[in-house]
Amino acid sequence: MKKVTSYVLKVASRCNLNCSYCYMYNLGDKTYLKQPKFMSVDTVKALTLRLQSYCSRGAINFVHIIFHGGEPLLLSKEYYAECIQILTSGCPGVEFNFSLQTNGVTLDLDWYNFFNSLKIKVGISLDGPKAYHDEFRLFHNGKGSYHEVANAVKLGNQNGLTGILMVINPKIPVQEFYQELKELGVKKINLLFPDGHFDRLPDGIDPDKFKNNGYTPYADWLIALFKIWKQDKGRPVIRLFETLIEMLAGIPRGNQGFGRTKNGVMVIESDGGIEVTDSLRACYEGITRNNYNVHANEIDDLFKDQIFEVYYNAHDLVAEQCLNCPVYDICGGGFLGNRFANHNGFDNPTIYCKDMVRLITFLRNDLLESLPEETISQLMAEKLLYDDVINSFKLPPQNLINLEVKQQLNSFNQLIAL
Ligand code: SF4
Repeated sequence: MKKVTSYVLKVASRCNLNCSYCYMYNLGDKTYLKQPKFMSVDTVKALTLRLQSYCSRGAINFVHIIFHGGEPLLLSKEYYAECIQILTSGCPGVEFNFSLQTNGVTLDLDWYNFFNSLKIKVGISLDGPKAYHDEFRLFHNGKGSYHEVANAVKLGNQNGLTGILMVINPKIPVQEFYQELKELGVKKINLLFPDGHFDRLPDGIDPDKFKNNGYTPYADWLIALFKIWKQDKGRPVIRLFETLIEMLAGIPRGNQGFGRTKNGVMVIESDGGIEVTDSLRACYEGITRNNYNVHANEIDDLFKDQIFEVYYNAHDLVAEQCLNCPVYDICGGGFLGNRFANHNGFDNPTIYCKDMVRLITFLRNDLLESLPEETISQLMAEKLLYDDVINSFKLPPQNLINLEVKQQLNSFNQLIAL
């Protein structure tokens, strides 16, 4: 049985910010307009029944619930207390872990105290120093949100803030970015590659340089950050680096952007819709939509959904180049949404392929350099060079892609719809 243990609850389908890159509202998909603004308590009750059924049939005894939006702080504290009571009492054999991802603009001490009392882990989205954060993360009146968010981060340092989530912006000078983290007292941060695909490249990629062999703006930025971070004895946790280093050291890790693990995350929409991860919405209108809903379906009915099937197995259902790539086990072909192109669906390496090669080979070689020579020879490990990996893509493939997999990945092409 396929196991899904993480559920993103879209408790609010509206937001008090209007971020320019938001996959919910400002990229390929406008279907949020048909959703109720908030998830009702009845929907939470229906979800609880489905979870109880699914967990007992699948012998699942741990579930991670992520309250998400839109902006989840548009709802009340009473709402969250009731949700948690319904979920925990309705699934007696299941251990729950709750977290919430907010834009932080209304996150005050009352909220922190409340979250601490219910053991809800809180993450804030921040996009770097003021000038950069305010370029993207705007209120609906056009005003930047940095001031409010920075205050929430500082307040959270002593009051249970779990960490910061940031979309990588290679236009931010790395030193300035790191200084900002230190000044805000950030203890833990995760970095995300921006949404985007072959027909909608993210801002940080210059389309004229995109195909150049040595062009790796995201990896260059991350490597510069890594060098500063590594020297700093009081460094914050940067989860992206730590996950990659652990994987390179042979510890099994992974997430939807890296590695070879299954993608065991589902989204529950505000109307109870059971869907694949919503960041795929950046691909095209309606890609995540289906007719499954907790009011009518079991959780695992989503396993019949074509896009969920590809997403769940995304690190196995990869393009032929990935199957033959020396860093495939670490990269996993990247996040599914970043592989999309109108003409062939998901039958591509990620748009960050060269960045992945640059970053992974750098970290791998850096790790090797830190080991004693004796250990390196015992491991029979050799340095892996960026150019060698890139050149290997031109060689005839040793591993051929299964034709059915190729058709499955191509079936999402949008040429007919265009
Ligand atoms: S680096 Fe490129 S080719 Fe290699 S697995 Fe990742 S996306 Fe595929």
